[in-house]
Amino acid sequence: MTTEPAATGPRCRGCGAAGARLRGTKHSAFLGRDFEYWDCAACGMMFVEPFAGYQVYDDAYYQGRGADPYVDYETEYRDYRSTDRIEELRDLWRVASGFVGRSLEPGPVEWLDFGCGAGGLLQFLSAQREIRSGDRSWPLRLSGHDIGTYADRLRRDGFEILSLDALHSQPDGRYDVISLIEVIEHIEYPDEVFRLVARLLKPGGLLLLTTGNVASPAFRVQGLGYGYCMPEVHVSYFTPRALGVAYARHGLVPVCFRYDGTVRFKVIKTLRTPGRQRLARLALRFPPVVWMIDFLFGTSRMPCATKPRAARVART
Ligand SMILES: [Zn+2]
Repeated sequence: MTTEPAATGPRCRGCGAAGARLRGTKHSAFLGRDFEYWDCAACGMMFVEPFAGYQVYDDAYYQGRGADPYVDYETEYRDYRSTDRIEELRDLWRVASGFVGRSLEPGPVEWLDFGCGAGGLLQFLSAQREIRSGDRSWPLRLSGHDIGTYADRLRRDGFEILSLDALHSQPDGRYDVISLIEVIEHIEYPDEVFRLVARLLKPGGLLLLTTGNVASPAFRVQGLGYGYCMPEVHVSYFTPRALGVAYARHGLVPVCFRYDGTVRFKVIKTLRTPGRQRLARLALRFPPVVWMIDFLFGTSRMPCATKPRAARVART
């Protein structure tokens, strides 16, 4: 690991501040080159230089033969219920439907899944049809956004999958819920996405966001050797503070949830052998095991966000 004078660093790709500091380099066997990891003191984000480009998201990537061996879009697309991701989907549903039931008046809920991938969450939500609490109901109206072949397949299945251009032409405050599940770490200029989703979110609505936590004990111990640090695809890294700073820039307010199935899924998906996965599923039935892993990964410390309702009052 080397350290260079602050002034020589590139501008932060999150907040634009000068003087990022070099944390270290990591070799990509997949692309056959080194990547630099830079820390921004101003906003707390860590970013990778150079950006490998979005062309790494090809069909081989979706089949787990690309930079990330944990990807399996085809199984999720064909039968999301059979994958371990069902744990995460149920957990996200619990979190979001609880928020909606507490915070929104009954009525249609417009939900955008930004970075919908193979469509596991959209298919899960489509099967739920509505959020219910007592005799009140919130029918779901779903949209997604992504690039690549699965976006086209989901379109053919009848989902509204919007291009980035189409999203930019949507009216302010269209969506009650916007999910960004393990997406923001893939984005070269994450602030552009935060700006867009903050505009599209309705006052009182929920930005349901998950991403790795590089302030977690797991990262602090392993540093750039942490398996999550895949410089070809994970290019923007956040801490709870860095997310808070990004939210505040766009008038969003952090809100924290205690995750459960999301934590289980994160563990199980990184275990490659069926034996280890079985053992993990067994151990993860015990809440203290989940709490311990949640502490190590810092999952529940990463805030989601809401848009204050005062913004609506000020605008009208
Ligand atoms: Zn920054």
